[in-house]
Amino acid sequence: MSYTFEAVGRIHSPYREKFGIPRQPSLAPSARVTLELLPPYNQPDAVRGLSAFSHLWLTFVFHQTAERGWTPLVRPPRLGGNAKVGVFASRSTHRPNPLGLSLVELLDVDTRAGVMLTLAGADLLDGTPVLDIKPYIPFVEARPDARGGFVDGPPPTLAVAWSETALAQLAALPAPPPGFAALIGEVLAQDPRPAYQDDPARVYGVRLYDYNVRFSVAAGAATVLEIRLTTP
Ligand code: SAM
Repeated sequence: MSYTFEAVGRIHSPYREKFGIPRQPSLAPSARVTLELLPPYNQPDAVRGLSAFSHLWLTFVFHQTAERGWTPLVRPPRLGGNAKVGVFASRSTHRPNPLGLSLVELLDVDTRAGVMLTLAGADLLDGTPVLDIKPYIPFVEARPDARGGFVDGPPPTLAVAWSETALAQLAALPAPPPGFAALIGEVLAQDPRPAYQDDPARVYGVRLYDYNVRFSVAAGAATVLEIRLTTP
């Protein structure tokens, strides 16, 4: 059985590369993402009533990794990158059909020119194609008693400190994106490093908006070292 789907919308996100994107939605609530509906779906009628819901399910394509195929066993970062589980027991991006599912908070529905949805806390790369949007229905879908398998609880987080240089650079940004400092803190607290790396001398860079945020990690704490404008 084979089906073809068309994107109903496209994501505009501060996450300009995979590295640094939190592994699930809501872990970086300061991330502001816009979902632009595409023709012929970008009509006010298609979202009538949506603003009455606080949260949405998005079905999307892992478009950047879609070509990589899949394997029946995957190594979730949450298990340290060593233990294997079945792909269908995971949220891995490498799936037979490269589809993602994220629960996001809906902040605004703007139908003045096409349809733009403002979302909080999405774990989505800039340019992600969205296949479907559905309202979250709390009385059916909120199950606090559910078992969470190997992800039973939030991941451990890092403390985040700022160097004098990074603080001065942040203060000097001519038009900083809203909530930029909070977003940097939330992203680094998630410890974006690969599971097997623990080198305090290593400097990493995470791309957020048009900036490269350089940081290092030592003794359970991340330090923001520098904020550089990325060259196009
Ligand atoms: N919440 C979704 C789910 O459960 O299906 C995604 C979980 S997946 C583990 C989250 C990761 O997907 C992010 O950390 C990011 O690296 C990756 N990602 C996000 N958007 C992507 C895209 N468009 N293409 C490929 N990878 C993407």
